[in-house]
Amino acid sequence: MIPREIVQPLLGWFYENKRDLPWRREPSAYHVWLSEIMLQQTRVEAVKEYYSRFLDALPEIEDLAACPETRLLKLWEGLGYYNRVRNMQKAARTVVEHYGGALPPDYEQLLELPGIGSYTAGAVASIAFGIPRPAVDGNVLRVIARITENEEDILKQSVKTKTERELAEIMPKNAPGDFNQSLMELGALVCIPNGMAKCGACPLAELCLARKHDRVMELPKKAGKKQRRLEKRTVLLIQDGEDFAIRKREKKGLLAGMYEFPNLEGYKSQEEILEYVRELSCQPVRIQTLTQAKHIFSHVEWEMKGYRVLIEPREKRNTDGLLFVNKKETKGKYPIPAAFAAYRKYLEEDI
Ligand code: SF4
Repeated sequence: MIPREIVQPLLGWFYENKRDLPWRREPSAYHVWLSEIMLQQTRVEAVKEYYSRFLDALPEIEDLAACPETRLLKLWEGLGYYNRVRNMQKAARTVVEHYGGALPPDYEQLLELPGIGSYTAGAVASIAFGIPRPAVDGNVLRVIARITENEEDILKQSVKTKTERELAEIMPKNAPGDFNQSLMELGALVCIPNGMAKCGACPLAELCLARKHDRVMELPKKAGKKQRRLEKRTVLLIQDGEDFAIRKREKKGLLAGMYEFPNLEGYKSQEEILEYVRELSCQPVRIQTLTQAKHIFSHVEWEMKGYRVLIEPREKRNTDGLLFVNKKETKGKYPIPAAFAAYRKYLEEDI
């Protein structure tokens, strides 16, 4: 059981130590929702910039609902997991249609919206509306597993459900949002992963069983974690003068509907690459090896080798599924995901 005694020390510590974050200054439901979705994938420091840019462009839920997809993906560019923002837009449209443009102050109704699970629903309900519902993410699971010296695999749904139930029982009814945030903040600043926990600075040190029994390094357990699939890819910057070839990805699957540099499965030899470039009706003039890069998705890891291929000027610009665009257009109009960041930077360079 999670001891009720953690509540007051945690809240006291939170009020003294909480970070001044943009979404905490004006915690409307839309702001909490947006920040929580962004924080699921990126560090707080990086999120700050995305968050203000997104809200400058789409200050209200109605604006999000009405935003054209290309612009939306552009605003999300660099954050990854593009389905999350697509789901946000679906949810925004439901909110406009059924709730007059404001997120409903009801946990169950929040949970029914696309892309909102128990964590996000709990965060929005508690922080924006003061509804006593827990918000349990990986940070919170880690803190609780350590305090209670729980041996169970925190990736199991049953452990998450039990943690939610027990937290709901001890949650202070007058400060549910602060309580949830205090646990998240402790997990982010003090009870951090990989044996780095700063137990000396922890307000729960006296109550923590993992600390008492010197087991902080061992907990939490994550038995069910799956290995990521490794994929080798060859990425091509096909350059015609100032322009580069990009193409649109399939509507479904990884990075659905995004733009990308042409790329091939596996590592290809220079001969194979030139052959492929000719198949795309381009006449190669020169090939140059670029950097190797890695990008980690949730279930897949890409290991990439890159090449720049200079080609003869093409008469027909946009055929064979390719679109030749200049670097300004890739910055403003065609979102190229962060997976290709190592190659995007070559657009800035002269050959
Ligand atoms: S005492 Fe250490 S392990 Fe326990 S909750 Fe605090 S930081 Fe985490």
